[in-house]
Amino acid sequence: MRHEIQAPEGATVGDMRQLLDARELSSVELTEAYLERITALDERVRSFVTVTRDIALEHAADADRRMASGETGPLLGVPMALKDLLSTAGIATTCGSRILQGYHPPYDATVYARLRDAGAVLLGKLNMDEFAMGSSTENSALAITANPWDLATVPGGSSGGSAAAVAAGEAAFTLGSDTGGSVRQPASLCGVVGLKPTYGRVSRFGLIAFASSLDQIGPLTRTVEDSALVLSVIAGQDPLDSTSATVEVPDYHALLGEDLRGLRVGVPAEYFVEGTEPGVEAAVREGIAQLERLGAELVDVSLPSTGYALSTYYIIAPAEVSSNLSRYDGVKYGYRSADGADLIETYLSTRDQGFGAEVKRRIMVGTYALSSGYYDAYYLKAQKVRTLIKAEFDAAFERCDVIASPTSPSVAFKIGSRTADPLAMYLSDVFTIPASMAGIPAISVPCGFSDGLPVGMQLIGRAFDEATILRAAHAYERSTEWHMRRPELVWSAGG
Ligand code: GLN
Repeated sequence: MRHEIQAPEGATVGDMRQLLDARELSSVELTEAYLERITALDERVRSFVTVTRDIALEHAADADRRMASGETGPLLGVPMALKDLLSTAGIATTCGSRILQGYHPPYDATVYARLRDAGAVLLGKLNMDEFAMGSSTENSALAITANPWDLATVPGGSSGGSAAAVAAGEAAFTLGSDTGGSVRQPASLCGVVGLKPTYGRVSRFGLIAFASSLDQIGPLTRTVEDSALVLSVIAGQDPLDSTSATVEVPDYHALLGEDLRGLRVGVPAEYFVEGTEPGVEAAVREGIAQLERLGAELVDVSLPSTGYALSTYYIIAPAEVSSNLSRYDGVKYGYRSADGADLIETYLSTRDQGFGAEVKRRIMVGTYALSSGYYDAYYLKAQKVRTLIKAEFDAAFERCDVIASPTSPSVAFKIGSRTADPLAMYLSDVFTIPASMAGIPAISVPCGFSDGLPVGMQLIGRAFDEATILRAAHAYERSTEWHMRRPELVWSAGG
């Protein structure tokens, strides 16, 4: 492993643990290497909106002291970064929006507090679509992040900064959030591993809300093993989030294995339809064939309401947006317009100037769907379809243990190519939204390339059974080389 030290930022969390525990490298040295790499690369990748250099070095020195006194743990001294909607006390948290300009949260998100207890080092905060609404990170009010595999293409979204940072080796791992696909789709487009846990598995305390019945925080990592390590640290009940579940958290890492005999993998016809790029479909089909070679049994399953998931999501999520985003009025924190002559005008011009076009579109759609006379026709009906989607997954999981599909119908697309067409953008999440609606866990794992760009395979699991999708994804990853590829463009240039 010694040769890996030349580029520690390319190593996995597991490898870093070995280097740190063997005292071949201190956390301060590792952190400095990452900070240097961020300086060298991020002008082009633009995944960071804030680099917390001094805080990172403090955290690292603290981790070195903890290690010197004999402590160890999977994430102790390991440098990471967070999507900029996770609250970090005293550190700017923008949510990719102008309206949170100047906002410094007074408290930490539970996931950040848990990572800090585990000794992880905060390198900074990562770019995202404004309020996590989008699939390309182009809706950020702050910057446009580039995909490290081709800087002219998008990294996906809304956790585009989180995915690009891992792909570019700018952080050992990152956290993102997934409401309808925002961890899995950018992971797929950037060739990294992205996990959306079961709704309730990870505390949402301190996560700036988009759609509260769907939002869930998840890790973006180089490998499935790293995903298991990070999930074990951030998962579990939290008295500060009443929707966090009391279900016991297993040691995900200990449950990984390489043999898939006895595992039943469901292949849903509804996820292999026209509209998916042929190169994506071919890579995913080959990925599924590989699962079979590893001992899994393939079964055909049907999820007939899949085609309604996207339109239902675009009622329910905006409805929750119209409520969640009413708190941004320029009074207590964030941006305040100076143009208002009175209170009402101040509210209006603050929201007009503070929110971007996509956020406004969702607030309007959501307010409409909830308004009297339309509530039954849209919101209530959408909730019924949501129940149906969940019931169909339950039925499918009587016949299989894991469901395999493409994560996204396309590889990374050109910056600017979908911004004028919201519906084309929304379709990026057609395969990730159903699992979000059902609240069940799903992971995206690299499964090949098409036109030189990464493709992800999605594995969906039963509620609270992250262990099984991690095990399947790990066995798959061990038997392939996709996760070892590096984007040459930034890999040869930086650090
Ligand atoms: N792209 C989807 C949307 O715009 C999902 C976003 C997300 O998961 N945060 O709503």
